[in-house]
Parts: sequence; C-alpha cells; structure tokens
Amino acid sequence: MPVRGYHIYWKDEEVTFYYPALSYGGAPSSGSCQGNRRVEGRSFHHGRFVSRLRDLAKNEENVTVVEGTVISLVSDKQTGRVIGVEYTDNKKQSKKSYSNLVIIADGSRSNLRSQLHQQQPISTSRFRALELLDVQLPHHSLAYGILGPNPPILVYQIGARETRILIDIPNALHDKILQDSNVRTYIKEAVVPTLPPAVQTSATAALESGRLRSMPNEYLPSRAVQTPGVLIIGDASNIRHALTGSGMTVALKDIVLLRDTLGAAGTAFADADAMHKKPRHFYWKRKDYSVVLNVLAQALYTLFGTTGNSTHLILHSTDIDDCGSTPRHPTTRIHSIHPIRRHAR
Ligand SMILES: Cc1cc2nc3c(=O)[nH]c(=O)nc-3n(C[C@H](O)[C@H](O)[C@H](O)COP(=O)(O)OP(=O)(O)OC[C@H]3O[C@@H](n4cnc5c(N)ncnc54)[C@H](O)[C@@H]3O)c2cc1C
Repeated sequence: MPVRGYHIYWKDEEVTFYYPALSYGGAPSSGSCQGNRRVEGRSFHHGRFVSRLRDLAKNEENVTVVEGTVISLVSDKQTGRVIGVEYTDNKKQSKKSYSNLVIIADGSRSNLRSQLHQQQPISTSRFRALELLDVQLPHHSLAYGILGPNPPILVYQIGARETRILIDIPNALHDKILQDSNVRTYIKEAVVPTLPPAVQTSATAALESGRLRSMPNEYLPSRAVQTPGVLIIGDASNIRHALTGSGMTVALKDIVLLRDTLGAAGTAFADADAMHKKPRHFYWKRKDYSVVLNVLAQALYTLFGTTGNSTHLILHSTDIDDCGSTPRHPTTRIHSIHPIRRHAR
C-alpha cells in the first residue's frame, strides 16, 4: 500500500508529516508537493513480501537454493577462518557446505552471532500486534502514530482490507499486566479508548477474536566482526526499536551495499584473499545509513515514550511545510533519504 507520510495524534492535537519532495537537496522546483513529486513509501505484509523476494532470487540463473537450518559455522582449526556452515536439510540429515565467504542473515534471534561475539540484543518493551479489518482510516495513505497518555501506538494499512496496529508495552508494565489480569483486558480498557474513533470498533473486534502477536523491541549496536571469511547483515548484526519502522530499510540497504562491495560475484567469490578484505569496507560503509536510523529510533522512542513536553516540542518545532526539501525535515532522516556524508577512513 502506498504511504505518503505520518499523521501523529498527541493528546488532543494532530499533525501530518509528509515525506519530502523528490527534488530533495534544494528547494522544490515549483507548485505544491502533492502527488508524484513526493517520495512514497510502501507498507505490506512482511511474510508475503519476503516470499516473493525468495521466488525472484530462485529464478536467477546463478542462484542455487538449498533449504535447511544452519546449526553452526565451520572454521579452519589452524587459521580460525570461517570456511562454511553445518546444517540440517529438510530430511533432518546433517550436512556441510563450504564457501570463501559466509554471509549470516538469520535475524534478531540469530544463533550464529554468538559464535562471532558475545553482544546480545537488549529489550526494553514489546509490541503487541493485531490485524484490523475494514477500518476507514481518516486520511488516505498515511501511517498513524498515537502518542500519550500511553506508550506509542502505530497504525498502518498493509492490504486492501487489512490494517496493522502495533501497541508498545514497556517490559516492566507488561510483567505487571500479566500479574494483574491479562494483556487483552489491558488493551481493551487502557488502549482502545485512546484510539481514534474510526479504529476503536475494529480494534475491539480483533481483540475478541483475532490473534494477538507479541514481538520484542530490541537494541543491538552493530559491531565489525573481525573473524575472516564471514560477514553478518540485517537484524542478526544490528537492531533498533521498531517504532520508526527502519529495520527493513537497514536490511535492504545492507543487501545493496553487499552487492556493490562484492562486485562481480562469479570472480570475486573464487578469490579468498579478496573476500578477506571486503567485510571491513562493508562494516565501515554501512554506517552511512545505519547510524542515523539507529540513533533516531532509540531517541524517538525515548521521547515518544514519555507523556511530557518533549513530544510537544517535536510537534511544534519541526519544519513540516517545506515539502521536505531540506535535510532537516524529520522524514528525510527517519527513512534514510539523506544519508550522512562522512570522510573516508
Ligand atoms: C513488531 C515489529 C514490527 C516491525 N515493523 C517494521 C516496519 O514497519 N518496517 C520495517 O522496516 N521494519 C519493521 N520491523 C523490523 C523488520 O521486520 C526487520 O528489521 C527485518 O525483517 C530484518 O530482516 P532480516 O532478514 O535481517 O531478519 P528476518 O526477517 O528475521 O529473517 C531472518 C530469516 O532467517 C531465518 N533463520 C533464522 N535462523 C536460521 C538458521 N539457523 N538457519 C537458517 N535460517 C534461519 C528465519 O527463518 C528468517 O527467515 C519490525 C520488527 C518487529 C519486531
């Protein structure tokens, strides 16, 4: 579904942040910023999107797909270099596969990360998620943030009929709710009355009969892995609070950077020494986009998690009517539209 920006509710105030004009980096050429002249986002069912990406990858001539669960990395005992993986295939047979470069992309619950370093994600809150049906959202093609008096709530359309609602519950409150009653009762009594009227009826219906999913919101700073022969990307490497919805942006940008870093795969993969040098460049270059997204996600959660004046400050101090043509526009940073320029090391 197309997304053109955010609509934020804060107590009895509302404000819309549109994504910036396509001609960012200077003043918008002329006229209004409506329609195609703005950057547009897309919201979607995550599972369907990933399945279609996999189908596309399978159809590539130089891709061979092997399905299985990786159990551990295989290392050269003398050099410490990672030379492959051990996995179980669909018939539960244990097998090994070897490569000059192993790329780890097994997500936030990664069981391979601990073979490279001991840093673990830190969780401060959970998102409880419902899928709402046939909601008539008040504004077309916008994602919604509902702030104060509770922790932040996100609402965004993911299909022609389906709308996702993510309700943040800090871990301490979550534990207390579990002791006192249950999470459905908490959402019904404390959260639903704070939602925009258009969302309340379908939220109540989803709460009564729908699946209430639970996902931790975590933080894991990225770390340049020094072990030769291996590279780690996506959530396995680096996680930030899901409030700003940056995880897919980082994961997809990691893939594009990886493609550019590796160059022509056919020749580069055969060259073990070249593969040895590539990861260092990759970890350094990915900071261009990951640093801003990590800092903003954590900082905005700290601000929006409060009910005090800091949220008020953001709503009133940001320049929201310049078509987003300047890097100071909030959405250019949240979505990595203006990456940071740093000096090469
Ligand atoms: C509640 C919530 C809401 C979010 N909302 C948004 C949003 O609105 N926008 C956004 O951009 N991001 C969002 N994110 C973040 C986003 O989903 C992740 O950042 C993104 O999916 C990371 O992609 P990934 O490929 O690194 O990891 P994953 O998507 O987790 O994929 C990892 C894959 O590896 C597989 N795997 C795991 N272990 C093994 C193994 N041992 N062997 C073989 N395969 C294995 C898994 O089955 C999985 O298919 C959200 C996250 C959460 C928790």
